[in-house]
Amino acid sequence: MLSKNVLNLIKKAKLRGRGGADFPVDLKWQSVKNQAEKSGQSVAIVINCSEGEPGVFKDAHVLENYLPEFFLGLRHAVEFFSKEKVFGIYFFTSTDYAKEFLPKIEKELNKNENSALQKRWHNHLKSGHSYISGEESALLNVIEFSLAEPRLKPPYPSEKGLFGLPTLVNNLETFYNVGLVVSGKFKKERFYSITGAVKNPGVYPGLEDANIEDILKSTNNFPFTDFFVIVGGDMSGEVLNQKQLKRPVGGAGSIRVYPAKINPRQVVREWLDFYVAETCGHCTPCREGTFRLLELFKKDPDDFLKFKGEVRNLIDNLSVSSFCALGASLPTPLNSYAKNILKIKNSKNS
Ligand code: SF4
Repeated sequence: MLSKNVLNLIKKAKLRGRGGADFPVDLKWQSVKNQAEKSGQSVAIVINCSEGEPGVFKDAHVLENYLPEFFLGLRHAVEFFSKEKVFGIYFFTSTDYAKEFLPKIEKELNKNENSALQKRWHNHLKSGHSYISGEESALLNVIEFSLAEPRLKPPYPSEKGLFGLPTLVNNLETFYNVGLVVSGKFKKERFYSITGAVKNPGVYPGLEDANIEDILKSTNNFPFTDFFVIVGGDMSGEVLNQKQLKRPVGGAGSIRVYPAKINPRQVVREWLDFYVAETCGHCTPCREGTFRLLELFKKDPDDFLKFKGEVRNLIDNLSVSSFCALGASLPTPLNSYAKNILKIKNSKNS
């Protein structure tokens, strides 16, 4: 049975998207609907199950364990836009996830209650775990068989998205949460992916505003030795020390724990390698900036770790001039690691 007041229920639950941007779900749905009514166009629905950032694997957890709830949320989205007006439903995921989960998804999709979804459903697979193709506008390009590059915004996908149609792009966990909301089972929880130097890595439910320390403790993952964390995504998240754990996780809900004694060269090199590999090459600050940062690091890692001179200029330039969030996000781990970990370590040693 589909609820007729799904938008009110989502609004009342204060549900926010789980892909990382934290945008209110009701506002996004309403804006797509408004645009469709204004333009008289059909609507496209995209399920973003790209999950391209290391350390984030909560969507895989939903696919493994909660497909009925996910499909319930999706059925409500289709009904909300009026099924006759839904041009297509596009499930975007990696070939790895497809290999593992598509048989289960198709079995669920073929059930009678999902008949309105079946003829509209399309699978779109990306090879490996390309990070940029998970960005909502780059993802639309990939589905249109164009380059995996972000689009200039505005117009936003809700106004002019896939094939020029008003398009709803939501993360897979978001549809799952909608399923919980409409069935009265939503407990203001989200999933957290926990990795690194912990006893019990995995995906765990927890209150959406729970603090990092509570999540680590309640999952028996709080380390006994000194450590620090990166939260929200292993490559784009914020690095925090042990005194900064009384805050929510944010982003895509991941926590990676590093042992305090880890070599800073290893930590920073991992980020730089990732961004050099993942830059789409569309804009100069990111294409050249990430490459040059890696060059400077290779030339003199100790000098790099002072975060001064050309290194500082390049990082600041990425923040203000990158075309999309990928390039603009590298400064977050670098700057927070320098400020919250290295600076304190150096002041103790001096
Ligand atoms: S910031 Fe990087 S990923 Fe984004 S458009 Fe520019 S080159 Fe591409």
